[in-house]
Amino acid sequence: MERNCPECGASLQAVRVLDATHSLPAKTGGAHVDLSYASPDAKASLFTKAIPRQGTLRAMMCPDCGRTLFYALPGS
Ligand SMILES: [Zn+2]
Repeated sequence: MERNCPECGASLQAVRVLDATHSLPAKTGGAHVDLSYASPDAKASLFTKAIPRQGTLRAMMCPDCGRTLFYALPGS
C-alpha cells in the first residue's frame, strides 16, 4: 500500500524496528521485534504476565525527513 509522508509528501518506506533492550556494539540492533498494542486498560495475566494484544504495528519511515509512523494491523 502506497503511503506518503504527512510532512513533506515523499513516499514512505517500510522499516523494521529493532529491539535495543540488550547491550550490543554501537549502531546494531538486538533483535527484530513485532511491536503490538493493547487497550489502555489491558491488564497482565497474574500467571503468565501476558497482556492481551489487539494487533501489531507496522512502521513506515520517510526517506527524506525521517518522520516515522506506525500503522495498526488489528487482529494480527
Ligand atoms: Zn517526510
